[in-house]
Amino acid sequence: MNINEFPYEILSNILEQAAKLNERDGVTYTFGLSQAPQPLPYISTLQRYVRGPVPPDMLSWDVTAAIRNVCWKWHEWALGYAMKDVYIRRWKGSERWAELSLKRESYNIYELIEKPSGVAVYRDPYRSLRSTAELLAKYPNAAAKIRRLWFNGFFIAETDSHIFSAVRNCPNLTSLSIPWTMLRHLDARSWSQLLGNGRTKALKTLELLAVDVTEQQAKGPNNTLDLQPLRSNAVDFSRLKRLKIFGNTTFMPINDDDLFAIAKTATRLEEFHLTCLSTITIDGVMAIVKASQSSLRVLEHSPRSNDGFWHPHPGMPSSNEHLCEVLAACPKLETVSLSIPSMCATLFANPAVNWSGDFQVRATTLCGHENPRHSNDPNATQTLAELLEQSRQLVRTHKHAYIPKDLYIELFFADCIFEPGYSAVHGDFQLAQFSSEGIWPSNSQPSRKGPYGSTGLYGKDDEGLFERVDEQDFLDGIRKRFVSIVG
Ligand SMILES: [Zn+2]
Repeated sequence: MNINEFPYEILSNILEQAAKLNERDGVTYTFGLSQAPQPLPYISTLQRYVRGPVPPDMLSWDVTAAIRNVCWKWHEWALGYAMKDVYIRRWKGSERWAELSLKRESYNIYELIEKPSGVAVYRDPYRSLRSTAELLAKYPNAAAKIRRLWFNGFFIAETDSHIFSAVRNCPNLTSLSIPWTMLRHLDARSWSQLLGNGRTKALKTLELLAVDVTEQQAKGPNNTLDLQPLRSNAVDFSRLKRLKIFGNTTFMPINDDDLFAIAKTATRLEEFHLTCLSTITIDGVMAIVKASQSSLRVLEHSPRSNDGFWHPHPGMPSSNEHLCEVLAACPKLETVSLSIPSMCATLFANPAVNWSGDFQVRATTLCGHENPRHSNDPNATQTLAELLEQSRQLVRTHKHAYIPKDLYIELFFADCIFEPGYSAVHGDFQLAQFSSEGIWPSNSQPSRKGPYGSTGLYGKDDEGLFERVDEQDFLDGIRKRFVSIVG
């Protein structure tokens, strides 16, 4: 029996195994030279080094090279395999090893060269983007294979138009990562096309990435253009499932008004991520949460996660709405990492919530105590005690439910990390220990959690300051004024 008569799933599986084996045996690293060669008389000895792994999209192209040559059917399969995810990066400039072939399968011959020679190379940084856009326009068959497109390092008006031209030609695209400037440089009609309105397959995932631009780029005449596409009703986010906004910028940043506009149609989002960015306040976040309240599963709002534990104030809500109530009423919400202005027991009062896994909330104050008259207000201490008790009850309810669920709640508040499930509080209590002349805390242990959270990623040297005390002991400490939760 001819292998091509196998059911397609089986044939596809065989080819995939072959591609994986090629990947195991093939070249997975790119080479570089230790420095860009200098003109005479500054000749220095060049050393070759392994620059890094071949990016995944290039690797999947390499490993299917032989398969593409077999027959039309295999060629089509290989094209789908290699072009499912396409990543386009900006050329950052580098040296080139003169004898090194661009064909990575010939690398092992070149590794034998003892004295490599090289040249400094300049290439148009936007060439890869421009040629991708041209290729996709010319070969619709190849463009139809693309499911995910990811652009990195382009954010001026000229490159935004190339990105749009590439995206427009991919009818089966479901996931797209683009620069935030496209929210300014593209008109409403283009955005409508970008989201796949009118196509059978609409865009499911949209990621907007922001960085700081150079002064020259910020001043470019076309770059400051704002076509305000979100003002139009034609831009419809209702089929989008996942929205991610990432990175800080001072150049035409995404703000609350943009989120209010998106929230008008983004009614079926399942995931909303907003990280490392401080130009959107809690109002913008809640607009999206409310719009997709019935479908939202994952909510991540960490305005400046690069700063670790110390998050900026997420802004006060402009309406009188109780945010704890809104969040507890999202029926499908499972995963939460959130910065809110204030929290209280209401957040954990709904036993029917679907939360599981890690649940992190960072808050500046407690609800009802936004403007405390003095620190160590007994009412605020009571609110905190109720909040901790209520969240502990929720953990227990989940644990003993008909279908048990592990819920791990972590609350970041008053420079401390609370783990209500373990009745534990982590913080820096050296001063309290000193002022109480050693009588408080009655019992403390070294904490795994540094002031920068438990990830260990930030300022590892500073860790070790935190101690773990019992929750009751902590509340007693507030009552006796050894520790303070406000001011
Ligand atoms: Zn509240």
